[in-house]
Amino acid sequence: MKVNYGSSVPISTVDWHGKVSIVFFLRGCPYLCPYCQNHELLFESNLVDTSLLEAEMKKSRPFVSSVVFSGGEPLMQKDAVMHLAGFAKKIGLLVGIHTNGYYPHVMAELMEKGLVDKFFIDVKAPLDDAQKYAKAIGCIDYNDIHIDPQNVVERVCESINLVLEKDIELELRTTIIRDFMGSPDEVSEISKSLNELTGSREPVYVLQQGFAENAMMESLRGIKPLSRDELLELADVAHKFLNNIYVRTKEKGNEKVNFESV
Ligand code: SF4
Repeated sequence: MKVNYGSSVPISTVDWHGKVSIVFFLRGCPYLCPYCQNHELLFESNLVDTSLLEAEMKKSRPFVSSVVFSGGEPLMQKDAVMHLAGFAKKIGLLVGIHTNGYYPHVMAELMEKGLVDKFFIDVKAPLDDAQKYAKAIGCIDYNDIHIDPQNVVERVCESINLVLEKDIELELRTTIIRDFMGSPDEVSEISKSLNELTGSREPVYVLQQGFAENAMMESLRGIKPLSRDELLELADVAHKFLNNIYVRTKEKGNEKVNFESV
């Protein structure tokens, strides 16, 4: 079987907090987020045999407990991911998947077959505002993206609900890019929309420090990342609607926010 393959990191401690993972970056994505850091994965194709990735997993196996499929959008390649997740399970690895939430039916199938242990789902903008989502995923700035933003938010909501129903580990995360997405008002709207969707199920929500120096859109490349203190202020905004909040920064990694000390 073939997979449209980008690259791998044989041993990573940052892609699945608390676990050591091998990470595969697969090519292709239905979105064109202007701040995308991995845009070299979006356009060209590199079909290789899945046995190549299996051999990499075997090599990393003594040092890792899990595999993470990232991208790009890994769930665009349903058959390859199913196959590789099955192989990972056979050699005793946990499976995590970074996804933009656009493929709920693939997520459902992976869960049904017991091939996934954790989903990390991007929440790129408020889930009740298709126009803001359209901006975040590139529908406003690029003509060659042909998906309906209203349909995108519906799919992301469906994906989140599916995982919460199955009781599989879930991390929701928003990448904050100064002056593009993640103002206090936007974080408040995102958190409110998440609260409306998830209610008392209280998923983990991570505010990620976004870096734009390699952004797909050149005009974003000079943007300064938010500092940890700025992210903590945003966490405080999100806390009006959500409880289980983390910030993720280059300097301090993953931190659960203790609101008593903010
Ligand atoms: S940042 Fe956007 S365009 Fe880039 S891989 Fe992720 S979802 Fe796709």
